[in-house]
Amino acid sequence: MKKQLYILQDILGTNRKIAQEIKAACEEKGVLVVNLMSSPGAGKTTLLEKLAERLKNRYKIAVIEGDIETERDAERIRAKGVPAWQITTGGACHLEAKMIARVLPSVEADIDFLFIENVGNLVCPASYELGERVRVVLLSSPEGDDKPKKYPKAFTTADVLVLSKADLLPLLPFDIDRAKKEALDLNPSLRIFVVSALTGEGLDSFIEFLVAAHAALRPADA
Ligand code: MG
Ligand code: ZN
Repeated sequence: MKKQLYILQDILGTNRKIAQEIKAACEEKGVLVVNLMSSPGAGKTTLLEKLAERLKNRYKIAVIEGDIETERDAERIRAKGVPAWQITTGGACHLEAKMIARVLPSVEADIDFLFIENVGNLVCPASYELGERVRVVLLSSPEGDDKPKKYPKAFTTADVLVLSKADLLPLLPFDIDRAKKEALDLNPSLRIFVVSALTGEGLDSFIEFLVAAHAALRPADA
């Protein structure tokens, strides 16, 4: 048991070191790295499609997709005219910084935003930094308002909570105030956005937040 624990600490320590190198290198170039985490089907890719549509004319963006198998999500992003790289983990249920480090040399250096879509999983992605400045956790209305305290680490380590599929709220017994309160109990500094990628509700304020976070990387510019 103890030996296993030491090995895990070692893996996480190595991962953190690589993540910090990625973060420093990207931020020095003015690239805002955003890590999106959620359970499968919460709408990460759909949100990224909408962000791609709305940001691509003003900013240079790139996307790294993480999945167990298939190139499907990267293809969806490319269909929006945004470059995307697919990492298939072949079974691993989270991305690690070394996987990002391997892809990074092929991503253009002069981008503004690098979005990383993690493998759909509300558990261990929370333990692996990927070099992100902004960590986003999505919770969709069909998943239920009781999830934050059941999967606390995803919420305590995130900077932003996107409550997604807001268009379904009238149909579901999802108590949005409860979800917000649970999340804020765990992490009082969470920024919360209620978003529907389908109707566009809440997208503007989320994008405003991302643009401000990007601008803050280089306060001397502009
Ligand atoms: Mg996806
Ligand atoms: Zn995992």
